Amino acid sequence: MSVSSTDTSDRGGTGPLRGSAPVAPAATEQSAFGQPTVGPVRRIAVIGVGYVGLPTAATLAHLGHIVTCGDADPRKVEMLQRGEVPIVEEHLEELVREGQEAGNLSFVLGATAAVQGAEFVFLCVPTPQGDDGSADLSYVEAVAAEISTQIQPGTIIVNKSTVPVGSTLVVERVLGRTDVKVVSNPEFLREGTAVPDSLHPERIVVGADDQMAAAQVGELFAGTRAPLLITDAATAETIKYASNAFLATKLSFVNAVAGLCEAVGADVRDVILGLGYDKRIGFEYLKPGPGWGGSCLPKDTRALVHIAEQAGYDFSFLKGAIATNDEQFERVVTKIRAAVEPSLATGPTPVDGDDFAGAVIAVWGLTFKAGTDDLRNSPAVEVAQRLVAGGAHVRAFDPTVGVPDGEVAVPVPGLDPPAEGAGSLLAYPDAYTACIGASAVVVLTEWDEFRWLDFTKVREALAAPVLVDARNLLDPAQVRRLGFSYVGIGRR
Ligand code: NAD
Repeated sequence: MSVSSTDTSDRGGTGPLRGSAPVAPAATEQSAFGQPTVGPVRRIAVIGVGYVGLPTAATLAHLGHIVTCGDADPRKVEMLQRGEVPIVEEHLEELVREGQEAGNLSFVLGATAAVQGAEFVFLCVPTPQGDDGSADLSYVEAVAAEISTQIQPGTIIVNKSTVPVGSTLVVERVLGRTDVKVVSNPEFLREGTAVPDSLHPERIVVGADDQMAAAQVGELFAGTRAPLLITDAATAETIKYASNAFLATKLSFVNAVAGLCEAVGADVRDVILGLGYDKRIGFEYLKPGPGWGGSCLPKDTRALVHIAEQAGYDFSFLKGAIATNDEQFERVVTKIRAAVEPSLATGPTPVDGDDFAGAVIAVWGLTFKAGTDDLRNSPAVEVAQRLVAGGAHVRAFDPTVGVPDGEVAVPVPGLDPPAEGAGSLLAYPDAYTACIGASAVVVLTEWDEFRWLDFTKVREALAAPVLVDARNLLDPAQVRRLGFSYVGIGRR
């Protein structure tokens, strides 16, 4: 029998800010993705074909432009040349293939090869968190240095990587060219829905001191019919960080409200319904969970605190949202500890104190959200690793972490091995096998397929029928009816 709770999300959204005026519409044709190409065809290079660069490149090709992608990773380039997409992202493979078959999307090794003859160069390389919380611009600077002598006069360089205020000037300085322009065009796509987000963006933001250059970048996306906002560079860069800071704050807010619900005996699901129907608040990003993470929110919030500090502004409000998030990971771990306590105290290997030594715990989900294979700064991994640090043996299942045929379980690729004396973290091939002998199962990522499992089979596999739902994915009443002890986040 499957158990599922109602999803109350909607997309919300507002009307156009300002429509972009495509210059001299050249072509209008229909594609499998149902969108016409509009405007002049441009030659574009995209540097870095990761979670942002690849959907961006495929979208620009879909819009009719001639796009050459350059990446430093030969494995990725070879896969893409064969039409294989190296990341999990729904519909991306079809969109990439469409471009390749139409002959206007290609992949080469390295930035130098990609920029030959390009009118526009999109920088989509990583900007990881530096030691002091600032954004590390070394990848952006390295590409700028590499292409500085390779780009033709008049080229427009587009910063799509998330970069701090002033970064267009940094790129200009590294390029050392007065005959090219640098423009900021922050990206707002969400992993898991990157294709629809790229084909139908809610807005296009382009910032530059040279408004003509900004308008030319805006024209590239005319076929998306998205509202176009043209600003100066510093404003565009600030919009990106402010957007992510707002989303992170909203998530910390709802996690704090869930904590309040537990304290006062309210149910957060109904509280969210009561909040979200108010259009000023909305339902998006009002979902309690194990804390926010991923490749963007943690680094971008910390970078914004750093940017503010450098500019003499104390962004204490945002620091509060970050601190609330750090507490949320531990709150979830404490919940798990309390949930397994009764079975551990009476089980074959009793566990004392506040650690998990010897406890076997199943977790469902390791990616930072459903619909992606991205483990970077995943809250699910953070919680699982805290259990392991406490001595637990964690049996994990995630739909994107494969276990080769013939293997029972494998270490999770890309994660550091547990410290000596800690527990263990292994990935199992399915949700049921992960539960065998465990004192509890914990839902850590909101994969839809977890709603439709056979929970009678799950209960039989577990050593104790304990379910901690850190995503509020399941219906507590149904789960309890099947004989489980259920703990959610802010749920009764
Ligand atoms: P990613 O790590 O998935 O991809 C970056 C790619 O750049 C990799 O394929 C890497 O091999 C390549 N690369 C690195 N150095 C290179 C070089 N010198 N030449 C050519 N290729 C090089 O990163 P991502 O998640 O796509 O993020 C890219 C940027 O976009 C970051 O600034 C990020 O903050 C921002 N962003 C990310 C998201 C997201 O959801 N991932 C959303 C909005 C903005």
